[in-house]
Amino acid sequence: MKRIKLLDREFELSIPYQEIDEAIEKIAVKMNKELAGTDPLMICILNGSFMFAADLMKKVDFPCEISFVKLSSYEGTGTTGTVKELIGLTESIEGRTVVILEDIIDTGITIEKIVKQLDGYKPKDIKVASMLFKPDACKADINVDYVGLDIPNDFIVGYGLDYDGYGRNLPDIYTVVE
Ligand code: 5GP
Repeated sequence: MKRIKLLDREFELSIPYQEIDEAIEKIAVKMNKELAGTDPLMICILNGSFMFAADLMKKVDFPCEISFVKLSSYEGTGTTGTVKELIGLTESIEGRTVVILEDIIDTGITIEKIVKQLDGYKPKDIKVASMLFKPDACKADINVDYVGLDIPNDFIVGYGLDYDGYGRNLPDIYTVVE
């Protein structure tokens, strides 16, 4: 299996881009059926979701807007336990269908907090789409409407996800070698 080194850690190939692309295609097909006519505002959670959002947006066929907001809860390979606030949402979402585009749901704390914050602005509906989901790590009581791939509870990089700032540009996903 292909290995790479980022800073002090080694990672091995775990999900090739083709598999990611096929998973996104499935999400787009589902969204095209369910979100047509809802004029949704897609909300891309930076930094990690930039690749997922870019690939997904090329595959959806309904009129929609996209907004980019920022928030982060991770440093290195361990959670800091602190979840920052959403910044950069300039559009009004009152009465609107919003679709959150996340890179990964791990414990679910981040997405739970984002949903709670957005709910305060009184949208019509909130949908959650996550490229990756760690079912064994998720403790939050959240409804994920669109999931690309379920993955084991290991630290990964690539396809938008970083290790201390590195690896976001990798088209494939790699798992840390312990
Ligand atoms: P949660 O709050 O669900 O535990 O974590 C959500 C955030 O933590 C994600 O948006 C992502 O930024 C980061 N994260 C969670 N798991 C991983 C991982 O395996 N690798 C990387 N690079 N970031 C992760």
